[in-house]
Amino acid sequence: MEKKNIDWSNLGFGYIKTDKRYVSNFKDGKWDDGVMTDDANVVISECAGVLQYSQSCFEGLKAYTTEKGEIVCFRPDLNAARMHDSALRLEMPAFPEDRFVDAVVQVVKENAAYVPPYGSGATLYIRPYMFASSPVIGVKPAEEYQFRIFATPVGPYFKGGAKPITIKVSDFDRAAPNGTGHIKAGLNYAMSLHAIVTAHEEGYAENMYLDAATRTKVEETGGANFIFITKDGKLVTPKSDSILPSITRRSIEYVAKEYLGMEVEEREVYFDEVKDFAECGLCGTAAVISPVGKIVDHGKEIAFPSGMEEMGPNTKKIYDTLTGIQMGRIEAPEGWVKVIK
Ligand SMILES: *Cc1c(COP(=O)(O)O)cnc(C)c1O
Repeated sequence: MEKKNIDWSNLGFGYIKTDKRYVSNFKDGKWDDGVMTDDANVVISECAGVLQYSQSCFEGLKAYTTEKGEIVCFRPDLNAARMHDSALRLEMPAFPEDRFVDAVVQVVKENAAYVPPYGSGATLYIRPYMFASSPVIGVKPAEEYQFRIFATPVGPYFKGGAKPITIKVSDFDRAAPNGTGHIKAGLNYAMSLHAIVTAHEEGYAENMYLDAATRTKVEETGGANFIFITKDGKLVTPKSDSILPSITRRSIEYVAKEYLGMEVEEREVYFDEVKDFAECGLCGTAAVISPVGKIVDHGKEIAFPSGMEEMGPNTKKIYDTLTGIQMGRIEAPEGWVKVIK
């Protein structure tokens, strides 16, 4: 298979149209067989549920080339399960999890020419999503839905190494108790845009959201979970019913415990104790881990001892181990790596 003529290491993090995408429609109470198509455009009613009341959810995962030259993706079964949960919370029909994984494999296979080579730092980002496609005007769930998966090559998230970022404690809330913070719904992102644009205008890379009810506990950022390292080398991650269960974070917890022998705690994290941590990072599929050097809370600064030059030492160990597993340099736990054949 001939690779596309793309300058892999200078790719940005944007959309590039690839050759093939997967489409399945839900109609008359069932999903059809699904097809691969060349058509990158979606044509739906002007009154489609997604356009009126934002009934949509999505996933994000990556395929890459390992050291051995195989194309793999990372734990797609967990994306399938999470999308199942997102769909049900939004009164959408779940897409069968085994078919989700099969469709991911098919999309990667048929766009193999776009999977960046090993060592380029670039990856193929895979975007499964589902939306209400039939007309809805009175507020209720739609009757018809479309599930699609496209893929787009994306560049290394950090060009020239992962420099720690500065973030702010947001005055906006991301998710309400008993709301939709724990699912990957488009609506969570629509309402976060004003907060992130505001943070960027003020010179911050990201927002730290606190729990909406008490504003005392750490939740997450707009699109990544937090990890903290205590001064005695323990991994601490915030536990909350209103944060998105990041697959990267769950993988980090496993790697820290089973590969690095670290103590791991998933518990409520009060903002008051953040100043006592030694290292802080954001985790998600896009960057794996972005180190946080500084958190600003209304003029008060928390500067982590790991500084603004590089990742903290424990964060780096976790990062190297997890990316080593993903890239095939370190043996993966059973079932984590799906080889695309
Ligand atoms: C997608 C997402 C994450 C990261 O999840 P991963 O499965 O690790 O990619 C974290 N927080 C939010 C709000 C998200 O939407």
